Amino acid sequence: MDYQAVLEEIYAEIQPELGRGKVADYIPALSKVDPQQFAFSIITEKGEAYHVGDAQKNFSIQSISKLFTFTLALDIYSKSLYERVGVEPSGTPFNSLVQLEYEHGKPRNPFINAGALVITDSLISHYQDDYKAFEKIIGFIRDIADDQSISFDPEVSTSEMENGYRNLSLAHLMKSFDNLDNDPRTVVQTYFKQCAMSMSTEKLSRAMLYLANGGTDPLTGKKYITPPQTRRINAVMLTCGHYDASGEFAFHVGLPGKSGVGGGIVAVVPGKMGISVWSPALNKYGNSHAGTLALQKFVEKSGLSIF
Ligand code: GLU
Repeated sequence: MDYQAVLEEIYAEIQPELGRGKVADYIPALSKVDPQQFAFSIITEKGEAYHVGDAQKNFSIQSISKLFTFTLALDIYSKSLYERVGVEPSGTPFNSLVQLEYEHGKPRNPFINAGALVITDSLISHYQDDYKAFEKIIGFIRDIADDQSISFDPEVSTSEMENGYRNLSLAHLMKSFDNLDNDPRTVVQTYFKQCAMSMSTEKLSRAMLYLANGGTDPLTGKKYITPPQTRRINAVMLTCGHYDASGEFAFHVGLPGKSGVGGGIVAVVPGKMGISVWSPALNKYGNSHAGTLALQKFVEKSGLSIF
């Protein structure tokens, strides 16, 4: 298939949709981003890469980082991780507090904020220090993207910390239920730093290859997790990767995917390729409006779907 031609077609068709929606203004540093931007990248397991738009422009990966910390924690804790965080869709917004109270401080899944905070907490405990844990997170992201220059944007994490009342509430609530080992503020701070990782669609699509290939990077041969663990991460992406719009994403796109409020979305076609799309204006669920549509078009045109 001529993937470049498919991407070019999508790029032309998506133009009227760019800027529709709203950038994530609850994080002041993100409210300044130009909503008209768009990029789409894919890379096959053989390393053939195709791009359109601003594919080298870095943006804030935000919740896409939850995928990488989930991988690290699953590798360390294996099944015992699920004693602290579930694998059910939440059906609630990403930062909801209500369900957490009802369910005694055990988050539904690793991709809502509460679940991601528990995962980050588990990494801080394992590495016995928040800086060391963050070094491991950055190191892992650099390895899977095969790019040692990747870093985070302190302006974004500081801006989020200054306004992080809701995430701090989630962390304190879980602490009160004994589902957080470390100081809530330290956990939230580390979580905001991982969310502030700055990457392009080119780098993110590359970073997804281990999940397309049973946990081993097909280009470097590095083994990160086992095939069963990879299947589980992909399953949780499919069912929980887009918050309360996860059903809709599975229905329209039908690929394991994870979105972030920076407007990025990553997805995998198991056995075939890593995908990343970016456009900062979000729909009412906090997922990229044009990005979601572009992925839908990609699946329609390429016929690549897990269903
Ligand atoms: N850092 C964001 C928050 O915690 C991530 C949300 C997202 O990307 O969905 O609110």
